[in-house]
Amino acid sequence: MDKFNIAIDGPGAAGKSTVARLVAKQLGFIYVDTGAMYRAVTWKALQTGLSPDRPEELARMAAALRIELHPGEHAQQVLLDGYDVTDVIRSVAVTQHVSAVAAIPEIRRLLVAKQQEMARSKGVVMDGRDIGTHVLPDAELKIFLTASVKERAERRYMEMKAKNEDVTLEQVEKEIAERDRMDEQRAASPLVQAEDAILLDTSGMSVSEVAERILSLAKSAAGKGIR
Ligand code: C5P
Repeated sequence: MDKFNIAIDGPGAAGKSTVARLVAKQLGFIYVDTGAMYRAVTWKALQTGLSPDRPEELARMAAALRIELHPGEHAQQVLLDGYDVTDVIRSVAVTQHVSAVAAIPEIRRLLVAKQQEMARSKGVVMDGRDIGTHVLPDAELKIFLTASVKERAERRYMEMKAKNEDVTLEQVEKEIAERDRMDEQRAASPLVQAEDAILLDTSGMSVSEVAERILSLAKSAAGKGIR
């Protein structure tokens, strides 16, 4: 199959990363988790005590960062200036602040340019919020993955419990709903389904069922001839 790009967007905890990673592996494509890039910048901002209400300083700090994404066995490995931040960028503190950092237009410009560079030679499965609308508007296949807030919260809660994190289902549901609200309402590239994206509601579907569905869409996109 010739190389082409797949954009997978949708709200938090819809299963995008797991599914995107599986699809990339099956196709022999590169998986790019753009949320991890916003999380890495947010982690650095928290470390240096910079808050989102100082956007210019934050953008200067972000411009000097070297963010590397490497494929890993279970998750994508994220290096920030050579330091492994794969786990720390998933902390509750980063999750609480990331949407405010991601709403800063200059930060988005910087990260979008990096993401477009990563996809230039095609063969990328990229997941995020604005991939089909802004980052890769010409992606050959665009998927918008969603599921009810309740189901997304339950999935995230199970994941957090498995890591022995001290949270309640209500807290997780509230955090997800709040992040949806901020991502959908921000002025700069809000979370919205691209007109030419295929909507997949994954409520009640397993990860492998969702991956299979996307793989079959990828095969028919490839069969129709890539733009
Ligand atoms: O995908 P994940 O939940 O890790 O993303 C974390 C946050 O990063 C999102 O809630 C959103 O605010 C931001 N994000 C974004 N655009 C992307 C990917 C993530 O604004 N393409």
